[in-house]
Amino acid sequence: MTPVQDILKTTDHHVDSRRLWQSLMDLARLGATAKGGVCRLALTDLDRQARDLFVQWCEAAGCTVSIDAVGNIFARRPGRNPKLPPVMTGSHIDTQPTGGKFDGCFGVMAGLEVIRTLNDLGVETEAPLEVVVWTNEEGSRFAPCMMGSGVFAGKFTLEDTLAKRDAQGVSVGEALNAIGYAGPRAVLGHPVGAYFEAHIEQGPILEDQAKTIGVVLGALGQKWFDLTLRGVEAHAGPTPMHLRKDALVGAAAVVEAVNRTALGHQPHACGTVGCLQAYPGSRNVIPGEVRMTLDFRHLEGEQLNAMIAEVRGVIEATCAKHGLSHELVPTADFPALYFDKGCVDAVRESAKALGLPHMDIVSGAGHDAIFLAELGPAGMIFVPCENGISHNEIENATPDDLAAGCAVLLRAMLAASEAIASGRLAA
Ligand SMILES: [Zn+2]
Repeated sequence: MTPVQDILKTTDHHVDSRRLWQSLMDLARLGATAKGGVCRLALTDLDRQARDLFVQWCEAAGCTVSIDAVGNIFARRPGRNPKLPPVMTGSHIDTQPTGGKFDGCFGVMAGLEVIRTLNDLGVETEAPLEVVVWTNEEGSRFAPCMMGSGVFAGKFTLEDTLAKRDAQGVSVGEALNAIGYAGPRAVLGHPVGAYFEAHIEQGPILEDQAKTIGVVLGALGQKWFDLTLRGVEAHAGPTPMHLRKDALVGAAAVVEAVNRTALGHQPHACGTVGCLQAYPGSRNVIPGEVRMTLDFRHLEGEQLNAMIAEVRGVIEATCAKHGLSHELVPTADFPALYFDKGCVDAVRESAKALGLPHMDIVSGAGHDAIFLAELGPAGMIFVPCENGISHNEIENATPDDLAAGCAVLLRAMLAASEAIASGRLAA
């Protein structure tokens, strides 16, 4: 057996880029769409086929596979000291209805490639390693998203989660049974020595900055609202301008304020109005009501609240000016998160040691790693995706960038195993 220290001393990437790419392409055949994407919704028969393939590959690589009561799959490669908590990695293999080949799947296949590479090198780690497939990360068929990791982290109860239903009325519990992935392993109470998740960036920054590796510092906090503005519907001809109560004119001021506020709280601020409906929606009727969604994100909780306060002020002033009333209802609240410094440093040091162009970055989207961070030290590795596009059938990434991300994952996991064994990284 080659000692881990020998691997960490070299600058070799070790991973097999072609094998990683081939695994991703084999997986992408299950649910492949005509436009080159993947449609593999959580807990469908296609998801079962993808899970079966993952299990088969992991068992062939010598891992022991266990499945928990919410369908999360754990492939464990033993360590020299079975008492140590595992160094975990993983992501998801469910997709959006018009999803791509890489979102989620890269993190899982990169984990498998780490195991295969260590087998090839004959390396035994101190801590056990685990590659995990988290159930229903996308939240497309069943809400909420990040379901499997959420139950694992104690954020959602198993009972409530199994009772969630899709649009056809099928529950998560029924769907798990139907595909044979309601496993016997208890969901709660598993120690997490460290958790790393490799993922495509899903944004344009790395490509724009010509960097291969994003060292993910944390994830933006998110607060979502539904806003309704009410004025008075009236005829577009006989109603003079100064006597109108036009809800859409008010909405225009709010859209502009959301955008301006986010621009004013850089870096790491986003503000989006993604949906807007004007009623009654007739060309010669002044809109009497507008319903819209507001999505605020920031890395700092205080700044996030300041952005919302600013927009609230604009909503009130706009309503007073145009004679409108309003209702602002919170619909989601995810706190901002900084990943563990030890894990972030391990990712950065690995990129540096491998000679890869890298930069610090934050995640604007939700990921399973955010819930895992509640249980132990966690970190993420981003690689570029073409034009920053994901949740789209044209989602693309290069074999070289994916292999580089996998090489960083391998090194970070080895470093974490050493750190756990020596007590330098503790949950
Ligand atoms: Zn994802």
